[in-house]
Amino acid sequence: MSGNRRVFGIRVVCFIAGMCVGGVLAGFKMQDIPAGQETGKTWERQEQSPVDSTLDDPTECYLCGNHNRSLMSMFRGRDDLGAICVNDWYVMDMQIRNLDGMGGGGFGWTVGAEGVCSFQTDRNPERGISEVTVEYGTNSIFDVKKVQNHLCQTCLDKLLEVMDCYGYEGEESGARDICLVDFQTLELYSLQEHYISHYIRDYYVQVDGRDGEELEVTGIYTPVLENGERTTDVAMESENKYN
Ligand SMILES: [Zn+2]
Repeated sequence: MSGNRRVFGIRVVCFIAGMCVGGVLAGFKMQDIPAGQETGKTWERQEQSPVDSTLDDPTECYLCGNHNRSLMSMFRGRDDLGAICVNDWYVMDMQIRNLDGMGGGGFGWTVGAEGVCSFQTDRNPERGISEVTVEYGTNSIFDVKKVQNHLCQTCLDKLLEVMDCYGYEGEESGARDICLVDFQTLELYSLQEHYISHYIRDYYVQVDGRDGEELEVTGIYTPVLENGERTTDVAMESENKYN
């Protein structure tokens, strides 16, 4: 076992039970157990070990601060979600809704620098739906050294928490450098599970990464209904916020 990370061995039965207990944020659906378990190796949850931030000035934090290298300052506070390619800190806004005329809709393709994630987007803000396909790059395994110097301790801790992943006993963490962000609350959500869904405020997000090469993230605006109708409060609240 590698010394720089804590590995918690959970046998498959416990793993399944744990998913039922642990689905606090997410409505888990059963994920596929990959082939190879017949080798007798334990399929286990791999947590990231705690890391100290080396950022001197917290106001320069890429997530909660104002460093000009981070796109977060463009999106922070918006009532929308985004995906972050962590190693090179690229922030993709999902534009689930057409807020402030920023949601143009249609297809888009964003190719990152060599080796990092690329994004294909298919946005339909008129209906409150956005589909983002993340194509992993060759250097898409999460590397904490790339962000240790750019995130304050609070944000670094938040990030490490959503970088848990599953793998075989004794193997290096294969966590992909991708996570979901709520621009309004700055909470982060995991995109590591093969098949997972999140309820985030008025949004429902479904994540499908079962083919291993890419990840499909579908975000839908699904405000809470009362007797089958959208509540007036919700409509008024969002009007007030953006007028
Ligand atoms: Zn921060």
